[in-house]
Amino acid sequence: MKDYLRNFFNGRYGMDSLNHALFFLYFILLILFTFTHSSIIYTFSLIILVVILFRVLSKDTYRRSLENQKFNNVFVPFLKNAPFLKNTNTIKTRFSQRNTHRFYNCPGCHQTIRVPKGKGRIQIRCPKCGQTFIKTT
Ligand SMILES: [Zn+2]
Repeated sequence: MKDYLRNFFNGRYGMDSLNHALFFLYFILLILFTFTHSSIIYTFSLIILVVILFRVLSKDTYRRSLENQKFNNVFVPFLKNAPFLKNTNTIKTRFSQRNTHRFYNCPGCHQTIRVPKGKGRIQIRCPKCGQTFIKTT
């Protein structure tokens, strides 16, 4: 039995980031289905599940990894620019620049403004809404 399983999975493609994304989509559709009971959503979720299984069990690893590469090329830049991920980006940026810059939020529009550190008391002008405020850097 163990050998059978090993043989079965031997040379199969397995999971990649495209499959993870499809799996995520599948769950979203399942949740949607429990609310809507729409047969279209159900059919669509089944199709996705079949695609995932097909890709996981596929022996054509070259083709599958090409698909995954295409997916990464499109979605990784998209995710990097996604608004819901922007916050983590700014936290990272702030941390990496904490010795050279200070970050303030504009009192008018809450836009984050980066100013160089060590300039003393300066007047900062928001580039977005034009409001000025005084801070010590
Ligand atoms: Zn502003």
